[in-house]
Amino acid sequence: ALFLDRIARLNPEINAFITVDREKTLAMAAAADQRLAAGTGGALTGIPIAQKDIFCAEGWTTTCGSKMLANFVAPYDATVIAKMHGEAGLVSLGKTNMDEFAMGSSNESSHFGPVKNPWDRARVPGGSSGGSAAAIAARLAPAATGTDTGGSIRQPAALCNLTGLKPTYGVVSRYGMIAYASSLDQGGPMAGSAEDCALLLNAMAGFDSRDSTSLDRPAEDYTRDLEQPLAGLRIGLPKEFFAAGCDAGVMAAVQEAIREYERLGATVVDVSLPNSHLSVPAYYVIAPAEASSNLSRFDGVRYGYRAPDYGSLDDMYAKTRAQGFGGEVKRRILIGTYVLSHGYYDAYYLQAQRIRRLIADDFTAAFASCDVILGPTSPSTAFRLGEKSTDPVQMYLSDIYTVAVNLAGLPGMSIPCGFADGLPVGLQLIGNYFGEARLLNVAHRFQ
Ligand code: GLN
Repeated sequence: ALFLDRIARLNPEINAFITVDREKTLAMAAAADQRLAAGTGGALTGIPIAQKDIFCAEGWTTTCGSKMLANFVAPYDATVIAKMHGEAGLVSLGKTNMDEFAMGSSNESSHFGPVKNPWDRARVPGGSSGGSAAAIAARLAPAATGTDTGGSIRQPAALCNLTGLKPTYGVVSRYGMIAYASSLDQGGPMAGSAEDCALLLNAMAGFDSRDSTSLDRPAEDYTRDLEQPLAGLRIGLPKEFFAAGCDAGVMAAVQEAIREYERLGATVVDVSLPNSHLSVPAYYVIAPAEASSNLSRFDGVRYGYRAPDYGSLDDMYAKTRAQGFGGEVKRRILIGTYVLSHGYYDAYYLQAQRIRRLIADDFTAAFASCDVILGPTSPSTAFRLGEKSTDPVQMYLSDIYTVAVNLAGLPGMSIPCGFADGLPVGLQLIGNYFGEARLLNVAHRFQ
């Protein structure tokens, strides 16, 4: 009730939540209390959490930040939601605002309006999980779910002074998580600390036969290594992450974090990710290609928005999609269908897939000489609302440090590492495949 009251008071200004349902939340809280009283609860039973509005939750409006799904009530739970509400006993506070279909780095493409960064309400919270980040930063929720296709957990965590984790691709089920770019999408936790993220990942991760890319591996306790000392840890610094293009204030905070890690017993090694300058171009071919295919299901027939006036069936499709999708989503569908079309496929999509392989190989080579890779999460602190929203290329370039991790399928985190001009700076930690427990350890010892 404390969080619900804060949401009622502060959300009209911050706009972090799209949907709140007091009755549902209080009913879940009462059920959790009963489990705790009966001694059948777990570590997270009764803990409130905000859910990114990309996760289907039965009986909850699930909009994905779009007019297309503004009135869509999900008929089933995403696996992540089912695990949280069921086994773990977490209590959902509501559904958080996001860039439309998770396309964006500022939360400004949402049909439900931009989210304000609680650190400076004239600035963006980052995106696409901007509502989740702002909710935690404004103390409207202690934790939240996010999804990360090209940085959408890590970048908003960085801009709002939070800890966020994108797991290895395949660790968290995508079932019921509305698809943006299926080969890159991965759900994960956002919270105030690595320890909280570890507990949340315990509740989210696990094999799911309903997701064909879910990995069937033995269950892990992601808290197990939190307290391990860092002596002997080899931290790789990719020279491409420390070249021009990053704000001086961000770089100063990152350099200070490196010194702190050295004090904690880590050694620093220089590594190189020679193809990282190709990661933004490759990402902005592959992600729109997959999106154009995934979003073809929003046709006005089965669910979601349908244009009120139309002639033929084709006219209904066209009007529904013209009216239901916002500008950024249309841009991505156009790019995606273009790069996949006959005659252009080899020049764009196939090339991007080849680059993707080179990028993944770069990481594998780098991990031969280090245990984790470190760098900035975002080249700048939170930018002003409207500052980049009219220039897509500038917006896409803000993903420069995050998208390679998704192309490679690796786990990545952002943790707070100080301030530049009063605004939070995020430190990115990248692990090798299935290195979540180690990453959380490296993050936790810093905090
Ligand atoms: N900013 C990136 C994009 O717009 C990443 C978004 C995401 O991770 N969902 O595609």
